[in-house]
Amino acid sequence: MSSDKETDKNSPLENHGLSGIQLLQNPILNKGTCFTLDERKQYKLRGLLPPKVLTMNDQVDRILENIRKKPNALEKYIMLMALHDRNRTLFFKVVMDHLEEFMPIVYTPTVGQACQEYGHIYRGPRGMFISAEDKGSMGEMLENWPYRDVKIIVVTDGERILGLGDLGAYGMGIPVGKLALYTACAGIHPAQCLPVTIDTGTNTQKMLDDPLYFGLSQKRIRGEEYDEIIEEFMTEASKQFPTALIQFEDFGNLNAFRLLEKYRDRLCCFNDDIQGTAGVALAGIYSALKMTQTSMTDHRFLFLGAGEAGTGIGDLIVSDLMNNGLSQDEAKKHCWYCDSRGLVVKSRDNLAHHKQFYAHDAEFIDNFETAVEQLKPTAIIGVSGQPKRFTESILKKMSQYNERPIIFALSNPTANAECTATEAYNWTDGKAIFASGSPFDPVDYKGKRYVPGQGNNVYIFPGVGLGAIACDAKCVTDEMFLKAAQVLAEMVTPNDFEKGCIYPELTRIREVSFNIALAVAELTYEKGIAKRERPASLEDTIRGMMYDPEYSG
Ligand code: NAD
Repeated sequence: MSSDKETDKNSPLENHGLSGIQLLQNPILNKGTCFTLDERKQYKLRGLLPPKVLTMNDQVDRILENIRKKPNALEKYIMLMALHDRNRTLFFKVVMDHLEEFMPIVYTPTVGQACQEYGHIYRGPRGMFISAEDKGSMGEMLENWPYRDVKIIVVTDGERILGLGDLGAYGMGIPVGKLALYTACAGIHPAQCLPVTIDTGTNTQKMLDDPLYFGLSQKRIRGEEYDEIIEEFMTEASKQFPTALIQFEDFGNLNAFRLLEKYRDRLCCFNDDIQGTAGVALAGIYSALKMTQTSMTDHRFLFLGAGEAGTGIGDLIVSDLMNNGLSQDEAKKHCWYCDSRGLVVKSRDNLAHHKQFYAHDAEFIDNFETAVEQLKPTAIIGVSGQPKRFTESILKKMSQYNERPIIFALSNPTANAECTATEAYNWTDGKAIFASGSPFDPVDYKGKRYVPGQGNNVYIFPGVGLGAIACDAKCVTDEMFLKAAQVLAEMVTPNDFEKGCIYPELTRIREVSFNIALAVAELTYEKGIAKRERPASLEDTIRGMMYDPEYSG
């Protein structure tokens, strides 16, 4: 941030009292070469800009020309984020008008590489860094944030960045990227977004040995001290920004489940890795049910990986089945898990708490392929962070057992996917209903073009967040994610299905987010957990909240 000042979408230029170089250095207000001649006079910009007044389209063309010349994705990321730092409106115009091109740059997979090298490509903070050493003064620190109408806070402690592990304070790229998606996909105003990294150390030696690592040079704090740090942050953040939703992002297993349980009823918060992932995966499953004309009870899901994503998806499947009349015991029998040691069963000792619910009374099997043979699942869902685990032999078996096997290879980044789209279609003879975590190009197989769906959380979390803040929800419930999954699945068109795709086109993301937000806000009012009085038109209120990247006068 250069000379940021409190700014919101309803406050045009003149309300901010900025002029000259300070105005050009304010990323929210800056229009660069688009300042009109009158504005240049009024705000003391004459001589500080080249003479010709350009249009925003000219500016977009210039950015595209430059960015497309960059030799690799990381260079594109660096250039885009530099634009973010200097002119937020133009940044969002470029990203939103070319979402399919730039989503993989602003977020996964490129953001993963950016986080790994964050100290080396560092240009500015873009969010707030709060460290263990700041205990006792977090309230005071949060007052330093220049924007006061914060509506969404994304917070990480950097312990489990995508599928890349513990990157400590370098994890900042994640909240920054997620919030850029909140703006691009659901129209949350950039000045209402606050990215936060809580630095409690890192256990990754490579980080500690990196001379440019900018986090605390210490191993991770655990236990009571860690909990006190998070508690202070949550309390102070909710005091300073009482109408903000807090999204937990990329916390390790040890803390993610605990923190969600601790805060989910107390504050308006959710964990995207657990609940957002579950929402998007469930939407994909709903689409697959439509494609195969089957119902949820016809399916058996076998997960590779029993962490946040895996058990989060299982929990939402169980909720869906219970809504449809099954008991909890009957419902959970539809979900089976293999982790790094093998099948999750009752006889195993030392099972982590979040896996115990799914520990079935069955024989232990020590490898995934045998589990596939014995359980004959209708769906395999890869959330292990381990590449290439859906082998040719496994996928062939899946297509022997099922007319249309559901194959979700959700591990990120691309190199960690359990199989590629090409492998999924080739090895199942085109039968697979496939989705991945990172994007894959369309695949041509036996004269047909298959478009793989990306089970990207971006289909879910921006809409849920927008809906929750629109009515000032007291808390974020699992039911909201079930609702979001239903809305998302309803938006998949026959044309999408025809191409084998189980998600709507990404170009429709604003419409998707709007529809989810409306349904989530409706549900919140229905359940009596909205703090804001219901407006005359919820639809108009939500539409009115959605930011468009246009220069204000
Ligand atoms: P996590 O660390 O919580 O869980 C990983 C799980 O995989 C653990 O249960 C672990 O025991 C298991 N595992 C590790 N090695 C294994 C092996 N060799 N065989 C079987 N299981 C093994 O991580 P997470 O948050 O659950 O994320 C897992 C993966 O899912 C990551 O790659 C992440 O990027 C991806 N993910 C994708 C999406 C999406 O596509 N929308 C969303 C969230 C997470």
